[in-house]
Amino acid sequence: MTSPTPLIAGNWKMNGVAASLSEAQAVAAGIGATTARVAICPPATLIAQAAWAVKGTALLLGGQDCRAETSGAFTGDVSAEMLSDAGASLVILGHSERRAGYGETDALVAAKVEAALRAGLEPIVCVGETLEERKAGKALEIVTGQVRGSLPAVLDGKAFSVAYEPVWAIGTGLTPTTPEIEEVQVAIRATLVEIFGDHGKVPPILYGGSVKPSNAAEILHAAEVGGALVGGASLKAEDFLGIISAL
Ligand code: PEP
Repeated sequence: MTSPTPLIAGNWKMNGVAASLSEAQAVAAGIGATTARVAICPPATLIAQAAWAVKGTALLLGGQDCRAETSGAFTGDVSAEMLSDAGASLVILGHSERRAGYGETDALVAAKVEAALRAGLEPIVCVGETLEERKAGKALEIVTGQVRGSLPAVLDGKAFSVAYEPVWAIGTGLTPTTPEIEEVQVAIRATLVEIFGDHGKVPPILYGGSVKPSNAAEILHAAEVGGALVGGASLKAEDFLGIISAL
């Protein structure tokens, strides 16, 4: 079994207008030598324009969330089919900002994963513990529980990734120590193998939470880290490329 192909994905969150696409173009122009797959997940409003802006390059595009339903009376929401139609090939699901801010449960995340697969999108499923949970010694229990609850059986043999994102490390400049990251990444891998057998060895397990050029090399070379989900440092091509080149 070959090791998972690394994935480095940038989550622009609610940042970016048409002028920001020059950053995506600069990333696309700079990723020639990397062995990783590289993606940018801009706001949904920019995906179609981004698809034109980076057409013919290796840069992938992703959404940041999708509705579990295909269409209907869901004002303001976006379906997986719409993301795919706009030019996305991946979608971030279960980000902690959605779990905490919109009450997304593991069951809802799993339903969104199924929707993503129906639309031909590759899900990046986020999991991670809060600081309180870590302090209570519950990080592994919480994270592996989220993995079990958020990954439906239909994922077996499909392309997907899991992103371990400690909630307390997102946007804070704080990161776990390398042994702390490795402990969780290894536990996620064991859980994937428990659920999917040998197929569970294939999906890359990303780390996310305050990854930047200065800490990327150490994090990306830690055990079972198969890439990164990057928020703030993905907004500027120079920073994002600095992370990619640390692989
Ligand atoms: C994220 O929101 O997925 C994230 C990892 O953010 P940051 O890199 O800014 O901590």
